[in-house]
Amino acid sequence: MESSCIFCKIAGKEIPASIVYEDSKVLAFLDISPANKGHVLVIPRQHYVTLLEVPDSTLAEVAKVVKKVSGAVLKATKAKDFNVAQSNGNSAGQEVMHVHFHIFPRFKGDGLLAGRLNRPALVYEDGEAKEIMKRIREALI
Ligand code: 5GP
Ligand code: ZN
Repeated sequence: MESSCIFCKIAGKEIPASIVYEDSKVLAFLDISPANKGHVLVIPRQHYVTLLEVPDSTLAEVAKVVKKVSGAVLKATKAKDFNVAQSNGNSAGQEVMHVHFHIFPRFKGDGLLAGRLNRPALVYEDGEAKEIMKRIREALI
């Protein structure tokens, strides 16, 4: 646990997030400024900065969740396509220094460049994040 890390705080339930999946090693929650609605971040609970620091066994657990949650995001948003993206270090555009995978649904003509993370963020309307979180959770069952 890194005391100044926002994702450690989310993992420790010190600050709220729309959590769509969790187990003993891995957590998945809605990105607060989604590229498209249903944009999820998947993290190991333990604090590592980049992909290279993550032990292989933990990475395997994270990858399984990325796959499982990707399917649920598609079902929940009725999208057919999605990107999985991941940045390591400042120059690569990593803003939160707790390793994470982005999953975001893609729609024809949504204007996002493939895998582009530097994008105008959308805003959830009242109750909308809760509804999408619920749909993703249900799609995981
Ligand atoms: P990066 O640029 O580091 O790959 O992505 C960090 C992501 O974390 C951004 O897409 C940003 O919107 C998201 N983010 C930053 N702070 C918070 C937060 O407090 N809660 C949630 N749910 N997402 C956050
Ligand atoms: Zn952390």
